[in-house]
Formats: sequence, C-alpha cells, structure tokens
Amino acid sequence: MFFKTDQLQHLLDNLQAKGYTCIGPQVRHETIIYDEMTSVEQLPQGINDLQQPGSYSLNATNGSKYFDWANGPQAIKPLLFLPKEKLWSSAQDADGKISFSAVKHEAKKLAIIGVRACDIAALKIHDSHFLQQSFIDPYYQARRQDLLIIAVNCSRPADTCFCYSTGDGPFVPSLLKQGADIVLTELQDGFLVTAQTEQGENILSELALQESTAEQRAESERIKSNASKQNRQLPKLDIKSRLFEELNNEAWHNIAEKCLSCGNCTSVCPTCFCHSENEVPELDGKSSSHYREWDSCFGQGHSYIHGITIRSDTSQRYRQWLTHKFSSWVDQYGRSGCVGCGRCITWCPVAIDVTESVAQIVEKHHD
Ligand code: SF4
Ligand code: SF4
Repeated sequence: MFFKTDQLQHLLDNLQAKGYTCIGPQVRHETIIYDEMTSVEQLPQGINDLQQPGSYSLNATNGSKYFDWANGPQAIKPLLFLPKEKLWSSAQDADGKISFSAVKHEAKKLAIIGVRACDIAALKIHDSHFLQQSFIDPYYQARRQDLLIIAVNCSRPADTCFCYSTGDGPFVPSLLKQGADIVLTELQDGFLVTAQTEQGENILSELALQESTAEQRAESERIKSNASKQNRQLPKLDIKSRLFEELNNEAWHNIAEKCLSCGNCTSVCPTCFCHSENEVPELDGKSSSHYREWDSCFGQGHSYIHGITIRSDTSQRYRQWLTHKFSSWVDQYGRSGCVGCGRCITWCPVAIDVTESVAQIVEKHHD
C-alpha cells in the first residue's frame, strides 16, 4: 500500500488521539536524535549526513525527504533501558528497622517513528536479554509492552554502516512480528507502507491508503539495492571461534595503543547493556536510593572485583568488548551482538573501526 506525504501528519495525529506520545528524529546539537514530537515539521526534512570514522556532520539538501539520512548517535536504547534509573529506596524508622520500597513504573504509551532496521535487530537482542523467561527486568518490560514502532527502511547508508553484512539491514525484514508494527519506505511523493502487527493494521486503517503501483514497488527495490551497497563489511569467516582462538594475538595491543578507553563505542552501541548499580545515601543518614546506570567494559571500575581490577589495561578491555560482542554473545543469545549500525566507528574519537579490528585478528588466524 501507499500513502501520500501529507498523510504523515494524520498518522501522528491518530497516534496522539490514541494516547501515544510520539517520539521521532530531530536535529539537535548538530546531530539527529529521537525526542518527543507532535508535528512533521520537527522531522529533519531536506537534511542528510556525512559519517566517516571519527567524524559526523549534517548538510542541508535541496530535497524534500524526511528520512534521507543514516542513524545518528542515539539508538532507541535510552528510551527503554534508561541511562540512569532509580530502582528502589530504603529508609530506617525510629526503631532502627530498615524498609525497602520499589519504584513504581508509570508506563507511557510510546510510538517511535523512523526506527531503522539495525535498531530493530538491536531491540530484539535487548528483548532476549531483558525479558528472558526467569529473569524479566520489570523496568524494561513496563516500557516495552506499550511500545509501537514505525520503522523506516534505510535509503542512504553512511560510510560507516555495515548492516548488510550482519544481515540486519538496510530494510526491515518483511516477515511478520520482526519487531516493527509498521514499516515505511520513503519515495519521492509519499511512502510505501506495510503493517507487521494487528496494532499496526488498525492504525493504518485510519489513513487514506492507495494500492501501490508497480513503478513505486520498483523504486523501492532500487532504493534497497543501492542501500545494500555498503563500504564496510565483516569478514566472511568463523569470527566467533577465531576471536576466541586469538586471545594472545598482538593486534589487541596494537589497537589498544590507539584506544583511549573512553567508552564512546559502548554508549552509542544499541546492544551494549553493561551497567553499574550504586547506592546513594541521603544526608539525613537514614535513607538511601539505589540507582542503575549505564557502564562500559572500557572503564577501570567495570572489572573491579574484591580489590582487584581484573582487566587493568586497555588491550584486555578492548578484547573483552570484541570477544563478548562477536563470540560469547552467540552462546548467550544465539547471534552476535553487532547489528552493523556503524555507530562505534563514527563516534570513536580516534577512528577505530570495529570491522578492521575484527579483520586484523581473524584474518591472521592459522588453523
Ligand atoms: S558494535 Fe558498533 S557497529 Fe556493532 S552494533 Fe555496536 S555500535 Fe553498532
Ligand atoms: S574504541 Fe574508540 S570509542 Fe571505544 S573506547 Fe576506544 S577510543 Fe573510545
């Protein structure tokens, strides 16, 4: 099906009428981030981006498209797994008895517009992590259950993208229940649209849809084919086993000489979920709050256990990141933890390229 560009505002209006808070891409701080929106005028229309290892910039174009750019630094991760969140508080009464109270979740119905295929793949990974049968995270679950996703297929990947080689993009898989409710492909004068859930179908039924034409479908195929031509890819080798077999490869040290251990790569990564837990005492000495906060395996404190920092140097931390992401993650979640979004390459201040790091190590491997 197809709808004209002017229907996009109707879509937003309908979502708001159903009680959704709409979140969509907007230009902020010279990047594109997700934030609350009520009007299509807030979308980054006529904007594209230039991304390279260690660099990012936005440019105005003469075009009228709303989604003609690749992902910015922020995935949808911070909307479900908050960067900092209070989990519970404790208080001591006059008799010295300590009581604990959990933070109540007020679930807000969120509709996120413009989510890309790589971030939907990352969302499914987070679902496997946070919603595992016996270890359900109530904080994540409360936000996830009322989430509506309107995905947009990528038309213009960045130089740093490699989702085609991980199998996660540039288009959202067309099978039902792949993580999106509605999937859009932006054409010159409107959008090809499909619903992947019943909820998505209900929302689309209120728009003025038209049957798509053969020409429009051919345009969509051309967009897909062009967006699949990406400059980077992962080696077509058994990365999982080879990384584990190359724990003493000298390349770890060579990469570490450049790496600042800043953790930017883990902050922007849509799948990284490491966190720390901190107790913050109040000044009254009788109460405290317990917080969960994003952490990074690149931090000195992340591997501090019983007085010892287990991974004291950067080469060990970089190795931990890569071997978890590409190797042990497969054992834990049935797939690698990398969806090929390329963010860690763009936002690394010293331009370390994860595809090059993997290649350096696994291609040197000798059976
Ligand atoms: S490791 Fe890098 S490319 Fe892979 S998902 Fe994370 S940020 Fe994206
Ligand atoms: S790889 Fe780059 S972004 Fe990641 S910790 Fe090292 S310097 Fe920072």
